[in-house]
Amino acid sequence: MTALGYYGEFGGRFVAETLVPALAQLERAVHEIVLREPFQREWRDLLSSYVGRPTPLWRAERLSRAVDPSGDLLGELWLKREDLCHTGAHKINNALGQVLLAKKLGKTRVIAETGAGQHGVATATAAAMMGLPCAVYMGAVDVARQAPNVARMRLLGARVLPVESGSRTLKDAMNEALRDWVTHVADTHYCVGSAAGPHPYPMLVAELQRVIGDEARAEWAEGPGGLPDTVVACVGGGSNAIGMFRAFISDPVELYGVEAAGEGLDTERHAATLTRGRVGVLHGARTLVLSDDDGQILEAHSVSAGLDYPGVGPEHAALLRSGRAKYLAVTDAEAVAALHLVARTEGILVALETAHAFAGLPAIARAEHARLGRPARVALCLSGRGDKDLATVAEHTP
Ligand SMILES: *Cc1c(COP(=O)(O)O)cnc(C)c1O
Repeated sequence: MTALGYYGEFGGRFVAETLVPALAQLERAVHEIVLREPFQREWRDLLSSYVGRPTPLWRAERLSRAVDPSGDLLGELWLKREDLCHTGAHKINNALGQVLLAKKLGKTRVIAETGAGQHGVATATAAAMMGLPCAVYMGAVDVARQAPNVARMRLLGARVLPVESGSRTLKDAMNEALRDWVTHVADTHYCVGSAAGPHPYPMLVAELQRVIGDEARAEWAEGPGGLPDTVVACVGGGSNAIGMFRAFISDPVELYGVEAAGEGLDTERHAATLTRGRVGVLHGARTLVLSDDDGQILEAHSVSAGLDYPGVGPEHAALLRSGRAKYLAVTDAEAVAALHLVARTEGILVALETAHAFAGLPAIARAEHARLGRPARVALCLSGRGDKDLATVAEHTP
C-alpha cells in the first residue's frame, strides 16, 4: 500500500471535503497510537480478558471426511474459531480497537453501520463497556430479518436507526452513517465494520483483524506443524478474510476468499463483487462494485445479511488483480446446505456468512489437489456463530 492508501489501482479517499481532516487525523492516529506499544498492550489485554482470545484452532475430522469421503483431496481441515469470541464473531476485535481509539482521540460519541447486526452488536458492546453513547444505522430490511441482534443492541444501550432509503440494507446504512459523520465529525468516531471505506479504514481494520491470522499461524506451527497449504475465508467487505490472509501473504500458502452468489451468478440476485464486479467508487474507495452500464450501484442479494453488499474492500480487489488470492462464489442454497453439514458433523452452528467458506471447500480441495499433487492441509476462518440466523435458515431449508 502506498501513503495515499492505494492497493494497486484500488483504494483511496473519495469523500466530502468536510471528512478529509477527520480521515487525515485518523490516519495519523493509526501510526502514532494504534501501531504503538501502549495501545497494543491495552487492546491485547482486552482481547484476552474480555473477548476470550486466543481463540482455538479445531481439527474438523468428521467434516473433512464428509466433504471428501476418500480423503484423496482434502488432507486436514482446521477451523479458526472466531465464533467463540465474545459477541459471537470476529467483529469485536475491530470494534474494541476502534472504540478504544475513539476514547484516546477524545471523541464522545460512536456511530456504526451494520448488516447482519454483528458489527452493530460488537460496537454497542465496546461502547457500553467503555462508557460512550452509540448509534447504529441499519437497513430496514435487515432490522426485520435480524431481530435478535436489534434487541441485543438496544439492551446494550445503543440507538438503532432503521434506514429506509435504497435497498434498505447494508449499503444504505453505510451511506447514512457517512452522512451522520459529516455533520458530527468533531465529536463523533465512525466505527466502520469491515476492511472497506475510505483510507485509512481498510488499513486500520486489517491491522485490528490481523490478530486472527497471526494466532492461526502460531497455532498451526504448534499443532499440525509448519504451515497450511491453503487458507480459506468468506468475503463480505473482507475483514475476516484479510485478517486471516495477512499472516500468510508472504508464505507459499494459497489464499481463497468465498463470496455470495446468492440465487446464482446468471441471475441479478447475487453479491459476487470480486467475481462479477466492475471498477467503481463506493463509500469513499475505488474498488470492484456491482454496477449497471451507467455506473449506478446495483442492489446486492445474499441470504446472509453480512455478505449482502455491492462492494468489497480495496485490498481484496488488488489481491484478485495480482493473482495473489483467488475468489469463488457459492449460492444461497449451497451455503445453507453447508451450514447443516457443519452442524451435524462438528456440532457447530456457524453463521450464514461463514457457511459460504465451508460451501467453497469441495471446489477448493479439488483445485488444491491439482496444484499440489496431494491432499491439501486447509485452515478455514470460522468467522462467527449462527444463532442470529436460526429464522432465516428455517425459512430456506426445504
Ligand atoms: C460480518 C460478518 C462477515 C462478513 O464481513 P467481513 O468483513 O467480510 O469479514 C463474515 N462472517 C461473520 C460471522 C460476520 O458477522
